[in-house]
Amino acid sequence: MITVEGLELSFGSGKQYNKVLNEVAFSVGEGEAFGLVGESGSGKSTVLRCLAGLYHHWDGRMSIAGQPLGKKLDRERCRLMQMVFQDPYGSLHPRHTVDTALSEPLKIHRMDDIDARVGEMLEKVGLNDSFRFRYPHQMSGGQRQRVAIARALILEPRILLLDEPTSALDVSVQAEILNLLQKLRALEGLTYIMVTHDLGVVAHLCDRVAVMQQGRIVDTLGSKVLSEGGATHPYTRSLVDAT
Ligand code: ADP
Ligand code: MG
Repeated sequence: MITVEGLELSFGSGKQYNKVLNEVAFSVGEGEAFGLVGESGSGKSTVLRCLAGLYHHWDGRMSIAGQPLGKKLDRERCRLMQMVFQDPYGSLHPRHTVDTALSEPLKIHRMDDIDARVGEMLEKVGLNDSFRFRYPHQMSGGQRQRVAIARALILEPRILLLDEPTSALDVSVQAEILNLLQKLRALEGLTYIMVTHDLGVVAHLCDRVAVMQQGRIVDTLGSKVLSEGGATHPYTRSLVDAT
């Protein structure tokens, strides 16, 4: 479903030159949940941003559902792949109600039955109809993240890119959102790439995981192997020992 080969990205030039991604390669099967872990600054979010079309100056090859990805964000990519951020305010406009946030992408893509689709999607993410008229600041962090997930799913994409979607939430709410993501994945047959620094999240949600260190993938393994203490790569072991 997703193939990334030889992905490279750097920022700045001269003394400011910073190579952030180096020969990053992985592939994710249809319906798979793939984790990207690693220390802060290792390049995890940058990989997602390249896939999502938020950067244009990368080198390498990426494709989704057999289609090569260009450097520009296009409509087709938006239909196939959506992103959820750590901070739900990343996807929600502070002065738009939930109803507006969910209707807008449907209007842009000229879909019909907008009202019914919004209602159905709210139900799927566990929010009742009264939430339609709320603004982001009138909800809890977990509720806001539910709305951000609903907005990401409203155009029925096949891939969700999740950048630490539970890191900003209380522990009890984290579990609720992970369970919701698990449920939605089964319900909609979604493919996930999930960035996290939390190995517990990987064990909960992911099938396989790639370990990033300073812009490179240094290890790829089954998340079951990881959670059962079977990691052999020294850097992966050091991450496990640190938690
Ligand atoms: P992670 O998500 O693993 O914490 P990021 O992908 O956000 O890491 O960042 C990787 C590296 O790229 C960091 O060193 C960060 O400072 C750098 N970086 C990210 N975005 C930019 C940018 N727009 N300009 C310059 N450097 C950046
Ligand atoms: Mg990040």
